[in-house]
Amino acid sequence: MNSSWLQKAIGYINKDTSDQNESPKLIVVVRILVLSMLFYMIINSIIYVSILNNIGIAILLVSFLVFLAVFYMSYRVHTTGVVYTLALCMAAWIFVNIIYFGWNMGVQHFILVLLILGFFSGYSQYAFKAFSAAVLCCFRIYLFFLCESREPVVILPVTMNNTLQIINTIMIFWCISVIAYVFSKDSQALEGKLIDYNNQLQDQANTDALTGLYNRRKAMQYLEQTLIPSNTSFTSICICDIDFFKKVNDNYGHDVGDIVLQNLADIMTTTLDKNILAARWGGEEFLLVFAGYNGDEAYNKLETLRGNIKSLEFKAKEKTFSITMTFGLAEYDFSSDIDTIIKEADEKLYMGKENGRDQIVF
Ligand code: GH3
Ligand code: MG
Ligand code: MG
Repeated sequence: MNSSWLQKAIGYINKDTSDQNESPKLIVVVRILVLSMLFYMIINSIIYVSILNNIGIAILLVSFLVFLAVFYMSYRVHTTGVVYTLALCMAAWIFVNIIYFGWNMGVQHFILVLLILGFFSGYSQYAFKAFSAAVLCCFRIYLFFLCESREPVVILPVTMNNTLQIINTIMIFWCISVIAYVFSKDSQALEGKLIDYNNQLQDQANTDALTGLYNRRKAMQYLEQTLIPSNTSFTSICICDIDFFKKVNDNYGHDVGDIVLQNLADIMTTTLDKNILAARWGGEEFLLVFAGYNGDEAYNKLETLRGNIKSLEFKAKEKTFSITMTFGLAEYDFSSDIDTIIKEADEKLYMGKENGRDQIVF
C-alpha cells in the first residue's frame, strides 16, 4: 500500500517533459527542488510565524504560492523557463529572508544551490554559465554589504536563529546533493559502460572469432613481451598444423572443418597448462608459447597434446574420423629475434610434414 503510493509520487515527479528536446533529468531536479522548498517553507513558517508582522506573513504566503505555481509550471512550460523562474524565486527568497532576518540564519548559502543548478542545466552555454556564476557571486557580495549597512526587520531570538541556521544548512546540502546525484548518476553509469565496451572491443581485436583463442596479432604482442634477451627463464615455441585438413573440408564440408578447428582449440586449452599460450596463427595453424619451459619440458607437454588430439573422434555424414597434427618446436636462445625463432619452428614443422606427419620435431 505504502510502496504503491511512493511509486505514484516518483512517477509523478518523473513524468516526461512536454518537449522531447529538453533534458528529463533537469525537470526532475527542478521538481524535487520545488517540493523541497515547499516543505522547507512549511517548517520555517511553523518556527517564525509567531513573530512575523502582517507583511511578513503575507510575503511567506505569497512565496509559498509562487513555489506551488512553479511546480505546476514544470508540467506545462519549457524546462528552461521553469529553471529561470525557480532561480528567480530562490533569489527573491534569499533576498527577502536576508532583509527580514539578517545574515546569521544562513539563507545566503542558497546561492550555491543556484550556482550548481546553473552549471548542470543547459548543455553547452559556457559563456552564459560563467556569466551567471559572476552574477551570483556579485549578488552574494552585495547581500553581505547590505546586511552590514542596515539592521534586519526582525531580530530573531538566538535559539530561533540557530534552528533556522541548521534547517537552512540541511536544506542547502540536500538541494546540492539532489542536483549532483541526479546529474552524476547517469554519467557514472555511462563511463562504466564505455569502459566495458572498450574492454569488449579490445577482446574482440585480440581474439579469433571461430576458436576464441588469441589471434596472430595478440600472439605477436605476447611474443614481444616474452621473448626479450634479458629474460633468463626458458621459453619454447611451437607452430603446429593439422594434417591433410583440406581433405576434411573436401569430404565433410567447410562447416565440419570449422567444428574440428573449434574442438582442437578446446583440447589445446584443456590439455595445456594455464600459462601456456595457444593462439590461432592462421588457417589451420596454431602457435603455442611455453613461457618458462625448456625444449624438453615443452616436448613432453606436446606429446600429451598430440595423443589427445589423435584420440578425438568426429562424426559427420554418418562416418567417424579423427585427425592428427604435426608440431615444430624451437627453444628460444636468449638472443635471436622473434622472426628467427618462428622461422626455426616453421622449418621443423615442414620437416615433420616431410617425414610423414603426426609427430613433434624438436
Ligand atoms: P598438410 O598436412 O600439408 O598441412 O595438408 P593440409 O590439407 O592441411 O594443407 P593445405 O594447406 O593444403 O590446406 C589447408 C586447408 O585448411 C585449406 C583451407 O581451406 C583450410 N582452412 C583454412 N582455414 C580454415 C577455416 O577457418 N575453416 C575451414 N573449415 N577450413 C580452413
Ligand atoms: Mg595442414
Ligand atoms: Mg597449413
